[in-house]
Amino acid sequence: MNFQELIEKKRDGKTLSRDEIENLVQGIVSGEAPDYQISAWAMAVYFQGMTEEETRNLAIAMSNSGDVIDLTGLDGIPVDKHSTGGVGDKTTLVAVPLAAAAGVPVAKMSGRGLGHTGGTIDKLESIPGFQVEKSLEEVIEQVNWVKAAVISQMGNLVPADKKLYAIRDVTATVDSIPLIASSVMSKKLASGARGIVLDVKVGRGAFMKNLEEAQQLARSMVAIGQGAGRRVVAVLSDMNQPLGKTVGNALEVKEALDTLQGRGPSDLEELSIVLAAHMVHMGGVADSLEEAVLKVEKLLHNGAGLESFQRMVVAQGGHLRLDQHDYGLPQATEVFSVVSEEEGYISAVDALAIGKIAMGLGAGRQRLDDVIFKEVGIELHKKTGDRVNYKDALATIYARDKSHLAQAAADLKRAFTFTELAPKLSPLILDTVY
Ligand code: URA
Repeated sequence: MNFQELIEKKRDGKTLSRDEIENLVQGIVSGEAPDYQISAWAMAVYFQGMTEEETRNLAIAMSNSGDVIDLTGLDGIPVDKHSTGGVGDKTTLVAVPLAAAAGVPVAKMSGRGLGHTGGTIDKLESIPGFQVEKSLEEVIEQVNWVKAAVISQMGNLVPADKKLYAIRDVTATVDSIPLIASSVMSKKLASGARGIVLDVKVGRGAFMKNLEEAQQLARSMVAIGQGAGRRVVAVLSDMNQPLGKTVGNALEVKEALDTLQGRGPSDLEELSIVLAAHMVHMGGVADSLEEAVLKVEKLLHNGAGLESFQRMVVAQGGHLRLDQHDYGLPQATEVFSVVSEEEGYISAVDALAIGKIAMGLGAGRQRLDDVIFKEVGIELHKKTGDRVNYKDALATIYARDKSHLAQAAADLKRAFTFTELAPKLSPLILDTVY
């Protein structure tokens, strides 16, 4: 294959055919395409973009570049959920058990956190004993039994994306909507679900900083999925401030468990219900989205969602103590309250800054091989729109030793912006793309 011709074509703004894209993907996986040519091609895409058809062809070719998960052994229509990544985003821990409680099979592969964003696998691993590795046969058996499984990757999924992403990461070509859309969707297509609910985060703590970009990404991902014969919906949600009140692995599991008992923060409950309702509707268990919302709300308030979470935890070897206030989750040794030195209303809580502070405490990784600490993190007591008096608690820091406290406290204070008058609040759910 002459990769130089493909680079030239893209550089000049021309469209690559399906065959050309398939050859390129094959070249990426086999090693026939050297890194410098893959880099040049990615940069050409960065500047010239790709058509909807090219983007879909790239996603499909990448999804077929390694193992493709066959979920036909599951009873029912398998539905997946994916978030583009945020701070304090624990909706999977609430929405998946709710969808499962409604009877929708969910065999979900999740990732680990990197940078300021968290990962569901790290959160689940804060549950003592919880196993995130299972074979396909074990996953099918578990999902047919308890309806839900959340595991880390199984098999050799989308090697083309792994290689391409590693190159994009070091060649300033991550921020390309067609490359992000094809990367995310290649993994979702290879994971075997028939329905895919996407949560596209928008704002300071997200990949997509503004609504227009997020809408473009959402439209591109929905088009890829539908073009590949899947049902897809994208919910666009605010990520200017963290979702819910906690950031940090065990803290987020606790908040998710509280939410499954109707005691969670309203933003986390609202978004989890909407995402779960889309899953339930796609899974064919409700005839309309409205009916699905009512069903999910009921499952949250009657404890069925919590029971479903507990069944999944037990099936994956975990031990939760639902009779204890801390659920038997790891606890931080140093707990420190940050109080306000100002009065007024909170006009912003910077999600990116909070994500970085939590990472600095050890809740997240700067590099892939960093060790994380399950018990550390931040609990917010004030969020955008809240009134604050002098010396009111703004947040609590959970740390592993005293050395991290002073820096985290100073940074946390700077993450809050105050105004004299109550700010206008923007909605949590900004758009839905079908
Ligand atoms: N997440 C992905 O999986 N791929 C991208 O390209 C960006 C974010």
